[in-house]
Amino acid sequence: MHDDHDHDHDHHEHHHDHGHGHHHGHDHDHDHSELSPMDARVRALETILVEKGYVDPAALDVLIETYETKVGPHNGARVVAKSWVDPAYRARLLKDATAAVAELGYMGRQGEHLVAVANTPDTHNMVVCTLCSCYPWPVLGLPPVWYKSAPYRAKAVRDPRGVLADFGVTLPAAKAIKVWDSTAEVRYLVIPERPAGTEGMSEDALAALVTRDAMIGTGIARATETAA
Ligand code: FE
Repeated sequence: MHDDHDHDHDHHEHHHDHGHGHHHGHDHDHDHSELSPMDARVRALETILVEKGYVDPAALDVLIETYETKVGPHNGARVVAKSWVDPAYRARLLKDATAAVAELGYMGRQGEHLVAVANTPDTHNMVVCTLCSCYPWPVLGLPPVWYKSAPYRAKAVRDPRGVLADFGVTLPAAKAIKVWDSTAEVRYLVIPERPAGTEGMSEDALAALVTRDAMIGTGIARATETAA
């Protein structure tokens, strides 16, 4: 369940000690020549914004650290696992997901109007944003690249079963697929079905079965899957 980056080596313990005005929250230990073109552009932009006084580098560091280490699909996985073991929590989640995830401490931008949609034996749910890339940041972190891609956004609506096939998932033909289009107002979190054979598992162990894709609806929770 780790996110994609591997460069968050304890930067949060020392990044406020730097005197220069353009620190970025990571890659302090690297030579600047190792920056990718995109990183270099981000760095240059940040330097200008800081020098002009438009942004506070400490505030930027907090934002970056938050999205690198604190916010990610592990949050949503905890929500889902709790919904599997706690029927009262599940009911609250389905009634008001923003409030229910806030119970676990998850709140913030792009999570203000969260709606949880639960998969059932009859219906599978899938989330897309056909206009852009709206995504429930507090529970899933930043969206994967494919979520923002034009092919996914088009195909999820036109051929959701084909999207699932692209992700290696085959559902029974009788199972309906419901596609939810995110907007600036509403973000969706899919609650996957609890896998069979997980009756004795702890909430933590269950959370490890819940992948990011299962919470977008391009995957399902599998008892054989383990956290990365
Ligand atoms: Fe969007």
